[in-house]
Order: sequence, then structure tokens, then C-alpha cells
Amino acid sequence: MESGDSEGLEKFRYFCRDDFEGDWVKVSERSFGRVYRVKLKLWRERCALKCLSTTNCYRELVEEVSKLGKVKFNYVTSVYGVCKDPPALVMEFMSKGSLDALLASHTLMWPKKFQMIHEVVMGMNFLHSMAPPLLHLNLKPANILLDAHLHVKVSDFGLVRWEEFSGSSFMEHLTARGNINYVPPEAFSQNPEPPTTKYDVYSLAIVMWEILTQKKPYAGANMTEVIIRVSSGKRPSKERIPDDKPLECHDMIDIMEHCWQQKPQQRPDFSDIITQTETLSEVLRLPDICPNNREEAKRLPYKNMLSVEVNDCGGGDEGQGDAALYFLSQKEFERFRRSVRQEHV
Ligand code: ATP
Ligand code: MG
Repeated sequence: MESGDSEGLEKFRYFCRDDFEGDWVKVSERSFGRVYRVKLKLWRERCALKCLSTTNCYRELVEEVSKLGKVKFNYVTSVYGVCKDPPALVMEFMSKGSLDALLASHTLMWPKKFQMIHEVVMGMNFLHSMAPPLLHLNLKPANILLDAHLHVKVSDFGLVRWEEFSGSSFMEHLTARGNINYVPPEAFSQNPEPPTTKYDVYSLAIVMWEILTQKKPYAGANMTEVIIRVSSGKRPSKERIPDDKPLECHDMIDIMEHCWQQKPQQRPDFSDIITQTETLSEVLRLPDICPNNREEAKRLPYKNMLSVEVNDCGGGDEGQGDAALYFLSQKEFERFRRSVRQEHV
């Protein structure tokens, strides 16, 4: 393992296959690359290896990624360096996977939804507060990862380059990854201007909608239909946001609508909305209670937040116990709702 070069990239490292223990666990396999969980011998720490599908991208990868080595913040994943063989990005391993998967598998409670939105805003605000702003250009739930305590970090930022966004390669990139839903309307014009921070702000609005609804936007529409809808000003429907929403959700919806304005200059910056998302997430913050204390849990404002043991996060340390307060699997939620109803008969 070599440390970074003389360009002041002291935290950026170059790894090789031998730097990792032999047991690589495949986390994900896609047409455009694989992700492995590996253990770094030197640090005795788990890392994620995000491999590229082709071998000739290494030089580009180094160029792109070397600037990411210094980005350190609680709400963005750390990039440790690159590996030459196999060509891969070496990054922090996020043990609870992606928000994409979590939204599909668990019913999140409102406080957790608000907290996640605010944490994403914090990560993005940090990237945009760099000089020059570091644009993500690929913000989506699959690139929002969860740590062991179900706090989120923004991942895979700075890997998409604007040059890729020209001609057919733009569409290829989006088709391969299914990312069209997060692309703002101005990018679909004939000769689009290079993206600005407002590109990411639009993507955040769609992510907010997905967190609030736990649904996929434009379900059933193909790529062309999405482009036509978005270009003509249509957006995912607010009606899909569940009726049991707290009052504060209306403020969150206002922020979302502001962020997906048609004209980029009408969208706010992350620095304009961060105190609002902070306040909203604090208003709904859960009191710290023991998740197994049923009596105490019943006094919570949302009755469906009563604590139950949840298989993959019950017991264990304090943070994991907390998680059980915030979400239940769909099946557990239904079972639980039935039991609460019976108790009140
Ligand atoms: P894109 O290349 O556009 O970011 P993607 O996010 O859909 O595409 P990958 O980045 O290859 O695909 O990630 C695929 C999956 O691998 C993620 O959804 C997540 O479950 C897992 N993954 C990626 N990075 C990590 C990581 N650092 N720690 C743990 N799991 C990860
Ligand atoms: Mg990704």
C-alpha cells in the first residue's frame, strides 16, 4: 500500500489485492460493476470495494477519486483510496446497505423519515460548501447508505463527470443505472448547460418524495415518458404521501416543491433549507426511552411507534436498540397494529 502523492493528498492511498484478506463477500453485482465487502489487513477494518466493469478506466478513476480522499464528514461516506487490481474504489463499508433497500423493506416512522431527510441535506450541504462545490450528480436512494445505527451517509459523490453527460453516453449511463428519475428538466434540453448545485437540489426533492411516500416515482412509465412528463413540469404526486402524516409534513412538502422547481435558479441551495430541515427533524425527534419498555412507549405521540423487537436490529448495543423504535417490517407493523387495536377495544 502506498500513501498519496505529493499533491497534498496525504490521506489518499493506493491499494492492491494483497492488502485485503482473502474472503471477499459480494454485496452487489450489476452490469456496470460489483461491490465487495473486504477486510483491510493493515487497519483490521472492513471496507467496501466498488469495482469497475472494465479495466481501462483505472487512470480516469484515479484522477476522479484522488480529490475525494480529503472529503471527511459525518454524513458522507469516506473514500480511502483506489485499488489497481481489480480496478476499484476503496471506501467505508456501510453495514446496513442502501436507503433504496430499506424503503422497500421496512415501514419507516415519521421521525425517522424527517431525520433521514435532514441527514442527507447535511451531507449535500457539506459537499456544496467545498470550494469549488463538489457536485454529486448521482443522488438517489441507492447512493444513500446506512450505518449500523441507521444514520445515513451520502455516497458515490463526484464520480459522474459532465463530459459523460453528452450525447448517447448520457442516456446509456442513465439507462444502465435506472437514474432518470433524479435528473432535472434542464438536463433534457437540446444543448444543456453544464450542471450546477441546483442539479443536486432537484435530485434531493425526488429523494424526499421517496422517503415520505416509500414508493417509486413515475411507476410504470418508461424513460421517454418520464422525460416528457418532467420536461413539461409534472412531478410525482403529493397525494401518495400517507394521510397519517404529522402537521409538520406540510412544511417538508413545501421544501420539496421548492427544490423541484422547473427553473434551476428558482430552487434553493442546501444552505437555504438546512435550518428548516433541522428544526423539522428536531420537532419530531423521539424521546430517549428504553425500546423494551412498553408502558413508556405507549405515551409516544404516534401509537404505531410502540417498540417491539425487530429481528435485524433488536437487542445488542444502544444504537441498534433505538432503531427498533423507528421502524418495523411491514408484517410486524400489521401484527402490531392489530394488537394495539385489540388493546383499545
Ligand atoms: P451508481 O454506480 O450509479 O452509484 P448504484 O448505487 O445503483 O449505482 P453501486 O454503487 O454499485 O450501484 O452499489 C450497489 C449496492 O452496493 C448499493 O445499493 C449498496 O447496497 C451496496 N454498496 C455500495 N457501496 C457500499 C458501501 N460503501 N458499503 C456497503 N454497501 C455498499
Ligand atoms: Mg452507488
